[in-house]
Amino acid sequence: MLRVYLYGVLMIVLASGAAFLVGRYSLRPALDGPARPSSTWIAWHMCGLADHPEELKAELRDLRKRVGIDLSVYDSNWRLLASNGAPPLPPVTGPDLERLQRERNVFGRGWGQVMEPANGSRPARYALFRYRAPEWPISLMLKQFAVALLVLAVVSIPLARSVTAPLAGLSKLVRRFGAGDLSARVRSRRRDEIGALARAFDDMADRIAALRRSEKELLANISHELRTPLARIRLALELVTDGAHDKASSYLTDIGEDLAELEHLLDDVMSAARLDLARDSAGDALPPLHFESISGRTLIEAAAARFLVRYPDRTLETDMPNDLPALDADPVLRRVFDNLLDNARKFSEGPVLLSARKAEDGAHLVVAVKDRGIGISPLDQQRIFEPFFRSDPSRARSTGGVGLGLAVVRRIVEAHHGTIAVDSELGAGTRFVVTLPLAHPGNITASLAS
Ligand code: ADP
Repeated sequence: MLRVYLYGVLMIVLASGAAFLVGRYSLRPALDGPARPSSTWIAWHMCGLADHPEELKAELRDLRKRVGIDLSVYDSNWRLLASNGAPPLPPVTGPDLERLQRERNVFGRGWGQVMEPANGSRPARYALFRYRAPEWPISLMLKQFAVALLVLAVVSIPLARSVTAPLAGLSKLVRRFGAGDLSARVRSRRRDEIGALARAFDDMADRIAALRRSEKELLANISHELRTPLARIRLALELVTDGAHDKASSYLTDIGEDLAELEHLLDDVMSAARLDLARDSAGDALPPLHFESISGRTLIEAAAARFLVRYPDRTLETDMPNDLPALDADPVLRRVFDNLLDNARKFSEGPVLLSARKAEDGAHLVVAVKDRGIGISPLDQQRIFEPFFRSDPSRARSTGGVGLGLAVVRRIVEAHHGTIAVDSELGAGTRFVVTLPLAHPGNITASLAS
């Protein structure tokens, strides 16, 4: 409040100063100006009346009484002819007189001198006059100033409150949020800067809350995924301890499958962490990948082989030409195909199709993974690449996974300067298309030579 008040006082002082300067240098001369011709006329008239002393005296008295002008008439021999002031205004001498003779009319602030030239034997005469300069209404100004200060003091309170109250509310909320209440939001409708700050806070709070939720979900999902294999391992151990070796070994296949699932999950979590860590350390920079030239065919065949080893009872159809060009790729690129194939398997029953070809522009490799499964709704298609997004959490949980797969896929594809697109229809199936730039010709030669 004090600050608002002091700003107010400063503004009043500045405004008064500006008003003073305008009054002094602009308004006052403008007001003085029009008074001059009438003053000149009066002075001439009085000089002319000097031949009739009685009449002159009467007019001078009248002039002082009615208009408040002091006027004295002299001749050029310094002889006082008449005056209405006591004492009379002192005669002009020396350079002042020379100036008056030269210019005839001389005016200052609140005074004037008018010369009537000599006429035949009659010496020149001049009239000196002084009118009361308006006084500064100091006491009125002081009163006005005091009233202004008082009004300002009264107005400062709501003004200061209107500025500080929302900020105080905001900082209370930020403290609440900092103390762990992630639901704290401002929800301000203000359209000013404070409203913008409040909305920025709300956005940030939404993102942090979503992130925290995702982290919790991730932990819950990983724990959930761990539970089944652990229970099986425990059971197998108990059976081995009891000597039931045959029964125990019947669990081994299931345990192996569970562990493979777990490995897959941990791979995703670790890839996500690696890619995100790289992003954090250098703004939006791409993660530090170690590119090596690899033939497109080898890449696709290896992905297909891994898939068939893990899921021998599923059908995988591959379709690609014999001579697929090479790409520059980090070994992490295999996760792209593993995750896409794994999703196609999880969300469909029938065969999965893996195809690859050289793009028409001759500079890219296009790999497509297609299934005839449950499909993805258009709304979900916009979100599936977000970390932790799963179309239907209950369904996705039964299929395993924590919603990191496609987020990791996209990050890896982008890190390889490629793109990924999805084309899906609910109930009909899904097709993911990955486009990756081909290796620089120089690199291929180098890799062939080695
Ligand atoms: P998750 O680990 O749950 O598989 P992803 O990021 O790989 O996570 O996929 C996110 C979601 O996208 C999945 O939960 C699923 O709902 C949907 N999805 C991904 N691929 C397919 C597919 N081929 N068919 C249908 N839905 C899919």
